[in-house]
Amino acid sequence: MTEQDPAARFARPRTMHRFTARRIVVTRVTEIEHFTRITFSSPELADWESTGPEDHAKIFFPDPDTGELRAPAPVGADADGIVRPEGEMFGRDFTPLNVREDPGSGHRVFDLDVLRHEDPGPAARWAAGAEPGDELVMVGPRGSIAAASAAPRVVCFADETALPAAARWIAEMPRESRIEVVADVPGALDWVRLYLAAQGGRDVPVHAAPGTLAEAAVAIGVDADTYVFAGGEAGRLVPLRRYLRGELGFGKEQYSISGYWKRAESGFDHHAPIDPSDPED
Ligand SMILES: Cc1cc2nc3c(=O)[nH]c(=O)nc-3n(C[C@H](O)[C@H](O)[C@H](O)COP(=O)(O)OP(=O)(O)OC[C@H]3O[C@@H](n4cnc5c(N)ncnc54)[C@H](O)[C@@H]3O)c2cc1C
Repeated sequence: MTEQDPAARFARPRTMHRFTARRIVVTRVTEIEHFTRITFSSPELADWESTGPEDHAKIFFPDPDTGELRAPAPVGADADGIVRPEGEMFGRDFTPLNVREDPGSGHRVFDLDVLRHEDPGPAARWAAGAEPGDELVMVGPRGSIAAASAAPRVVCFADETALPAAARWIAEMPRESRIEVVADVPGALDWVRLYLAAQGGRDVPVHAAPGTLAEAAVAIGVDADTYVFAGGEAGRLVPLRRYLRGELGFGKEQYSISGYWKRAESGFDHHAPIDPSDPED
């Protein structure tokens, strides 16, 4: 296996999508484990695509003080591009799940699993009071990067916020492929196993991460044949990234690591380097 060209073994083709702003309407609100699941539908989803496991969309939430929704608008029908309004916007990234067609309306439908977290910001606060009929605006995904379907093994390191992405990894890898999850989640992991099996469509091994994520990688034997996805609190990911790059010599084709949030930082930009002392090459 290790003889093969790494670029081919870990290939993840990218597809670009129309870049616009879409109004989305809440059709259902349910509680799933630690998440509030919000189901959205809209006629504006007709040409919307989401085909990659780490796909994310920027969702624009109302101003928590005034309730006003300031969000981008499309530049024009069928055109690519958005127009930003004056004033502060409250956009946060989320992972679309379960994209499907609503048999009643014929419109596309998808879910967002929004974590109920401490110190809730505009997104978590809005989700706590969301009701059918509420409207938000969504921009993205701009593109989708497919799962590494030829990888001999995939390991997903995920805290709660990245469990939706890990579930998409499970669902989008070939059914017979080897995939495991390291759940960076406090307490018993039974609910994580159930959540991933329900979303991903099959049972996969789920490991705990009692120490650092680098220690978890050592414990489960992440090696040259492993593709790694990791999402979670930005600071938690640094030792894992250092281990993969420094100790195992992983090139960037063999991992995808993204800070999904940062402790004590509202509206964290996940494009910021998580380890400024070692920027991405
Ligand atoms: C690519 C991508 C995909 C994502 N997908 C999902 C998803 O599917 N579901 C999901 O729930 N989240 C997801 N997230 C994470 C989500 O965008 C952040 O948690 C976001 O900060 C929540 O916005 P907020 O307005 O509630 O809080 P913010 O206003 O951003 O932050 C307010 C405070 O809450 C803290 N905080 C933020 N997140 C957490 C947390 N998880 N635990 C504890 N404290 C926190 C911040 O540090 C800050 O102090 C994703 C992020 C990215 C980058």
